[in-house]
Amino acid sequence: MKINVQDLLSVKLQSKHIELEVPFDSFEFEGNEFIVNRPVKITGELVKATEGIYFKGNLYAELKTQCSRCLEDVLYNLTVDFDEFYSSMSDDADYKIIENNIDIQRLIEDNIIMNVPLKPLCDEYCKGLCPICGTNLNKSNCACDNQVIDPRLEKLKNFFNRD
Ligand SMILES: [Zn+2]
Ligand SMILES: [Zn+2]
Repeated sequence: MKINVQDLLSVKLQSKHIELEVPFDSFEFEGNEFIVNRPVKITGELVKATEGIYFKGNLYAELKTQCSRCLEDVLYNLTVDFDEFYSSMSDDADYKIIENNIDIQRLIEDNIIMNVPLKPLCDEYCKGLCPICGTNLNKSNCACDNQVIDPRLEKLKNFFNRD
């Protein structure tokens, strides 16, 4: 989505209040799929500067993904404060004013991706799935023998068993 900032670039306005709901597609990040449940809410101020426009504000997104251990749905309500600068110069700034517009799609994307977890978890103590039968170990136990032995301890155990 683009915001036309011609009124700020001309002498008319010094700042402008922004309140928007921006549809945003589901995305994949580090192998996890994030579903964006509803349009991302953006509120903030556009403020004119000498060589561009500052956009300072806050975004709110409701995301759904899967726990990386047990694969159950996990909901994230993400609130991010941002403070970005859109340059009107022909420099190599991250964000630019192009034909009197600023593109806020990338701003949203960057600020969401910087704040989603690399390994989403339903709970930091999530026990995950049994690697043998697939039982969700948060919900029930299984009869599998899945005592995972640290290979270094295994060596030590063999050492002591030797006679
Ligand atoms: Zn989990
Ligand atoms: Zn099992």
